Amino acid sequence: MSYIVTARKWRPMVFEDVLGQQHIATTLSNAIRLDRLAHAYIFSGPRGVVKTTMARILARAVNCRSPRGANPCNECDMCQEITGGRSLDVIEIDGASNRGIDEIRNLRESARYAPVKGKRKIYIIDEVHMLTKEAFNALLKTLEEPPSQVLFIFATTEVHKVPSTILSRCQRFEFRRIPVEQIVERLRFISQNEAITIDEESLLRIAKKGEGSMRDSQSIFDQVASFCGETIRAEDTNRVLNVVDEAFFFRVTDLVKQRDTKEAVALAAEIVDRGYDIREFLNCTAEHLRNLLICAATGDASLLEVSPQVRVRYAEEAREFSEEDLLRLITFIVEAENAVRWAPQPRFRLEACFVQLAKFDRAVEIQPLIERIERLTGGSSGPEGGNTAPADRPESTGGALRSSGKPKDTPTRAAGEGIPSAAAIGETAHARREALSPAADPPKVPMVSGPPDPANAEAVLPQWNSLVDVVRKDKIHLGMILDEARIAGVVDGVLRVTVPDKLHLARLKKEKQWLTERLQTVAGTKLLLDFEYAERPVSPHGSSGTQAPPAGGSEGLHPIEQTIIREFGAEPLEG
Ligand SMILES: [Zn+2]
Repeated sequence: MSYIVTARKWRPMVFEDVLGQQHIATTLSNAIRLDRLAHAYIFSGPRGVVKTTMARILARAVNCRSPRGANPCNECDMCQEITGGRSLDVIEIDGASNRGIDEIRNLRESARYAPVKGKRKIYIIDEVHMLTKEAFNALLKTLEEPPSQVLFIFATTEVHKVPSTILSRCQRFEFRRIPVEQIVERLRFISQNEAITIDEESLLRIAKKGEGSMRDSQSIFDQVASFCGETIRAEDTNRVLNVVDEAFFFRVTDLVKQRDTKEAVALAAEIVDRGYDIREFLNCTAEHLRNLLICAATGDASLLEVSPQVRVRYAEEAREFSEEDLLRLITFIVEAENAVRWAPQPRFRLEACFVQLAKFDRAVEIQPLIERIERLTGGSSGPEGGNTAPADRPESTGGALRSSGKPKDTPTRAAGEGIPSAAAIGETAHARREALSPAADPPKVPMVSGPPDPANAEAVLPQWNSLVDVVRKDKIHLGMILDEARIAGVVDGVLRVTVPDKLHLARLKKEKQWLTERLQTVAGTKLLLDFEYAERPVSPHGSSGTQAPPAGGSEGLHPIEQTIIREFGAEPLEG
């Protein structure tokens, strides 16, 4: 038999076999069992999370001659034709290459005819967001009055590009990234059936490299298997994927513990000699430190996506570092990674980075000093003030001091005047980390009294836009409502926003607290939110001018305008 790639050979054939998307599989099989299928579904989610696989199972389940419960039998002629892509009743269309109005007109034409053999005529349109606006409009007409025997299944990786008019006529399912453990399970199952011996380490490496995509993980598996043959070991997997052995990252943290500058230079040389990508290495070092931070912060290593042996090692290593140190180290490594990007000689930058790590001042070492100074200056205070300072116990380990960051042990700022406390150092690191994120440093917002002033609406626009972006990701419908909202101005610290629709206003008022909290976190502001109704300005000049006209949605327009837009694909003129 000829070779078939794993992703195709082991494609799930029934609902129960679809990994990571059981919430969707269950809903769909219930709908089949109860005969309550919708006319159109849209499957959204990142690539390689079995959206089209699910669409094909659904198609077979609907048209199968002898279904088993909600599942297709996968044996009858209907099932086999669909699997082989020969069915006349299941039409798969690639939205990327058939995106024009003509293709959709053909589709509409053919949708009027009854299915040839099956119960329903099923159109699966992949990457549906690629359709042109005219094509969407043509499709919309069919969706508005769908022929009873037709079923549409759309799949997309970019659901925000699909017009809301289409979305509102589909039942929508969001596919999730597949968790690493489930990919590992599946790969283990496949290798057992293919008589391939593979170790845990390799399974994890491959699954992590696939980044939540089953298809990607399976092709990486194929790649490794064709290199290694019937036995796959971690060393070989690492070599094929050019993945750095985990031991290297522990050597990096050893530099900090042992303060060994000679080893720092040697380690940098070894990494370069092995041909590892320096930025990638620093990236993974940041992940390594993050793993340690999770262990240190939660005391629980089971949250890490690593093999059991490595997990034990993380749990031990985490005891050697304080959370503040780890935060500072992460900041340092992220900065180094950025610097390497522009460095003419990345190797020198890596060496410098490692030497600095070997000279890294750790909070666990500074803390006893601070306490000592405090005692000498007689400044210690608080209930803990009289305790023996850990500095008097040289044998005490980092573990004993790990609570130094907790509020009860933190020396008061007044006591340590002029000397940064460990907690303060932690704060600085934290602040620097925040400075890296784009949300930091929000523009100044003028707080004025009196009637809303459109002039200060400009100032809050960036903050408003970041709120809309965040909301759109969490609650798409709410995001669409915000799209058509306009900023009236800021009055007494309240950002006043108007919407041209009373129903939408009610929804916004209901979500006011949630939205306010969101605004305050994403924009780092103390502004409050208030919503009110205002008719949409007649001319664009009359608007506050701070918001772009809503894209896509035409619900707020006059019925005649809506018809013109729908029938002729008209667009409102700008300016
Ligand atoms: Zn069948």
